[in-house]
Amino acid sequence: MRKNLVIAIDGYSSCGKSTLAKALAKKLGFIYIDSGAMYRAVTLFFIRNQVNINEPEAVKDALQHIELNFHSRDYESHITLNGEEVSEEIRKMPVSENVSEVAADKLVRHEMVRQQQRMGKSKNIVMDGRDIGTTVFADAQVKLFMTADPKIRAERRFNEMQSKGDTETTLEEVFENLAHRDYADTTRKESPLVRADDAIILDNTAITPQEQLDFAMQKVQPFLPQ
Ligand code: C5P
Repeated sequence: MRKNLVIAIDGYSSCGKSTLAKALAKKLGFIYIDSGAMYRAVTLFFIRNQVNINEPEAVKDALQHIELNFHSRDYESHITLNGEEVSEEIRKMPVSENVSEVAADKLVRHEMVRQQQRMGKSKNIVMDGRDIGTTVFADAQVKLFMTADPKIRAERRFNEMQSKGDTETTLEEVFENLAHRDYADTTRKESPLVRADDAIILDNTAITPQEQLDFAMQKVQPFLPQ
């Protein structure tokens, strides 16, 4: 039985996992780890260096030249790729369009899972992703599986991108990208996105961020020191 508390949040693309994970981490004083940012940063490296995902030797070599680090400021997680802050660039369409293909690769997954397990070895953490409750921390004390109406998810992501100055991507493109990633993530061979048997479903289509935080806190409460 692990001593540190791990909260695993999995679910479909853009259904508010990171909003909830950050809010929980802030409330509990836990470390927040955005596992998707790691796959995105690897994808950015592969795009920039034209690494062919179908060439295992090239992938292996590339992974040895990638160093990822998180820097947390006000519970906003910032990621660096070989020392360069890439938090904004990894949210843009070129990365979003390629990340699920890169994340399906066995070698990439093994390396990311290894790093994620190390980060959650002894500290209290909230980690969000696709395989946290099933693979990375199958022994997490609290597992949430998030979902929401696909149209609402696309609108939320679209509005977020607009507010960050990305005015080139249309709502339809965002919708298509989410559908594509959901399909790729749920049908891949290596740890596909699937609800762990002991994960609690949280559909946030019609609830506020505060309501979802209250719901999650209720589930975490029994595991907190009295
Ligand atoms: O969470 P986010 O949407 O930023 O993740 C981007 C992509 O990274 C997902 O669509 C998925 O393909 C991949 N991913 C994954 N496993 C995780 C986290 C993300 O395969 N634990």
